[in-house]
Amino acid sequence: MEPDPRVNLVGRPVRQIRELLGDHVDRLYRAQQVGHWIVHRDATGFDEMTNLPLEMRRELDRRFRVADPTVLDERRSADGSVKVLFGLADGCSIEAVAMPDDGKLTLCLSSQAGCAVGCTFCVTGALGAGRNLTPDEIVGQYRVLRRGAGTVPDRVNIVFMGMGEPLLNTRHLGTALEVLGERVSPKRITVSTSGIIPGIRWLAGLDRRPKLAVSLNAPDQSRRAQLMPIATRYPLDELFEVLHAFPLERGRRITFEYVLIRAFNDAVDDARTVAKLIRGIPAKVNVIPLNEDAEHFPDLHRPDDATVDRFGATLRDAGLTVTVRWSKGLDVDAACGQLKGRHQGSSPQQRDGHLDAASSPGREE
Ligand code: SAH
Ligand code: SF4
Repeated sequence: MEPDPRVNLVGRPVRQIRELLGDHVDRLYRAQQVGHWIVHRDATGFDEMTNLPLEMRRELDRRFRVADPTVLDERRSADGSVKVLFGLADGCSIEAVAMPDDGKLTLCLSSQAGCAVGCTFCVTGALGAGRNLTPDEIVGQYRVLRRGAGTVPDRVNIVFMGMGEPLLNTRHLGTALEVLGERVSPKRITVSTSGIIPGIRWLAGLDRRPKLAVSLNAPDQSRRAQLMPIATRYPLDELFEVLHAFPLERGRRITFEYVLIRAFNDAVDDARTVAKLIRGIPAKVNVIPLNEDAEHFPDLHRPDDATVDRFGATLRDAGLTVTVRWSKGLDVDAACGQLKGRHQGSSPQQRDGHLDAASSPGREE
């Protein structure tokens, strides 16, 4: 199928839509209206923009499109979470999850179609590198999930905890954050990273900074490097230097994610070491019992519930705020951090999400 030559308006901030449409509308406020329809009202086509003259809508439709990634599959779990598999124009596939909870809706979005970081306990990592998602592909996940949630919840949280390492895709993430930031307050957006130091510095410099989550996953450098090869490149001491300097607005904290793996990083002593490591940083810890995967890492297991509870309690005793994330939607693998883009085997593996991009955030395509 021929690619659609029309310019996609999704994934662009209203100011950019205004610029693009300037020559194609009779008055500038028309362009503003189009931007509002797309960014604020999630319009899916010009035909919905009923306050625009019909002829203008037709003219715009000849030159522009309002396109989201295609939904290939959708799975609902008993707890109400929905995992969506998206197909992209070049054949790649990615996943995202919507998790309703107590009147809130948390959307877990992907930033890359795979992940080059290759953590040993992560299914996305096991699939290998995938290309960076473009702003329309990132914002499109939000638009589709939000529409699918039916009633518009007054509170939407966005977490970049789906497929990929968001801070290896800073350029497109930056644009996506600008667009999402027109709808959702940056304090409701969290970027989760495996510890890409140049990317964390980039995030620190943003005007409308989202929240930062860091996947710690081990109490020391040696065990962290065993789980997360990236730790060799960005060691724990350097990472914590940057985290101590990370600007935090009043009341904000850095979230540390800690995947608990049986007999590897789940001892009471490990919890005490983690608490010491974090000391001095306004923080909360998100303890995530491992989602097991017999195919990709048959030797890794989640600890029993008592061990998980004890680990959390030890961190709490040390004065930390702790949440234990019993992953939602386990019956459909819908949990964040367990996204695999199932159809990926047949998709092109472009390798521009490679690790070298880490040294030059902002320059990768
Ligand atoms: N690349 C980023 C964001 C995506 S991974 C990062 O690593 O932070 C999001 C979270 O899922 C991370 O905290 C990661 O440690 C966690 N995760 C990955 N695989 C998991 C698994 N098998 N079980 C539980 N959590 C997992
Ligand atoms: Fe990539 Fe995050 Fe998975 Fe590690 S845990 S492989 S950084 S997606």
